[in-house]
Amino acid sequence: MNDIPHASGALPPLDIERVRADFPLLARTVHGKPLIYLDNANTSQKPLSVIEAVDRFYRRSNANVARAMHALGDEATSAYEATRDKLARFINAASRDEIVFTSGTTQAINLVAYSHALPRLQPGDTILVTQMEHHANIVPWQLVCERSGATLKVAPITHSGELIVERFVELLTPEVRLAAVTHVSNVLGTVNPVATLARECRRRGIPLLVDGSQAAPHLPIDVRALGCDFYALTGHKLFAPTGTGLLWARRGHLDAMPPFFGGGEMIREVRFEGTSFADPPHKFEAGTPNIAGFVGFGAALDYIDSIGLDRMAAREHELLAHALEAMRKVPGLRIIGEARDRVPVIAFLVDGVHAHDLATLLDHEGVAVRSGHHCAHPLMQYYGVPATLRASLAFYNTHAEIDAFIAAIGRARKLLA
Ligand code: PMP
Repeated sequence: MNDIPHASGALPPLDIERVRADFPLLARTVHGKPLIYLDNANTSQKPLSVIEAVDRFYRRSNANVARAMHALGDEATSAYEATRDKLARFINAASRDEIVFTSGTTQAINLVAYSHALPRLQPGDTILVTQMEHHANIVPWQLVCERSGATLKVAPITHSGELIVERFVELLTPEVRLAAVTHVSNVLGTVNPVATLARECRRRGIPLLVDGSQAAPHLPIDVRALGCDFYALTGHKLFAPTGTGLLWARRGHLDAMPPFFGGGEMIREVRFEGTSFADPPHKFEAGTPNIAGFVGFGAALDYIDSIGLDRMAAREHELLAHALEAMRKVPGLRIIGEARDRVPVIAFLVDGVHAHDLATLLDHEGVAVRSGHHCAHPLMQYYGVPATLRASLAFYNTHAEIDAFIAAIGRARKLLA
């Protein structure tokens, strides 16, 4: 499922009922029906250990970080900073100082756009993105292009939803200042060959930013093996609280980047004549952060460790195969994107039925799927559709839930036909 080799774990298969019991929300009903939560690419549900870590923090350790000279301040700072170490291990960063805490992928990409790219961009320069990007990996680049006179260019994809790597490489011409690519498409589920793209970028001296929001919940991430320059991810799709995320960047880039937000926590000394800044990552972390959220993020990483990413990926692989097989048998159901290397994120349409109408009927059956443009207007334009439905699975979903979802589509089609 990735172009980076990784060890396969020796853990026994998952006891799925026990796993589901870790996620209290999965036990609830919606419109009187058992919830079938297939909107994990939007945000994942949270295990009890994460909920309890946040609760415990506010009950016992709440204080501000890095500045209090008392026991609570120490506890809060240790718990918060421990997540930086865990994240450095999670993505195999060379150092914890390369982990900049952000509110999510969007903030991480904006930080690179304004602090790394904008000061370097000149009229005539370009930034290369792909046809399958989320708006978070398009709009920040458009904004800095507008300010600098640079332009955006777009690497094409095939109809089956795969990046055309040769075209991407051809587009890496000398005026490209940065390439920005999603690791995994939030619509098509496609896994892009990031290590290959990074190698080609490196040969030409072009920094590569990878949007890892949809990859981190499914694939082991090793930023050094991938060979990219920047990696952004979001905690809330990774079983952690909302408002958490990271930017990883090579230390050299972080040293060269000016601060983006100014304020407390990011300085060494402030004088009215001028201010000197803290070293990375703190120079990018002005103000009071989402402390409890990052404590919860640490608990989410511990939870993932306890399950094992390999076991999660193996389970997801099975669920994906089952879902694709069942969906392909539904008359009139069209899957958008059939990449060979993919995660269990499946966009689809049903002939003659509006995506929102179908999503509403599914919701009445307790099935949560997303319908809309998925913050990927250019991808919708490529496929010539205004919206799709999207079923996105997590390792805690079951075969029975997929079967119930397919049966609910059948009933809804009859009602809407
Ligand atoms: N990129 C991709 C591929 C995404 O799926 C998302 C979230 N839908 C984002 C970026 C933005 O993430 P966030 O809203 O957490 O900043």
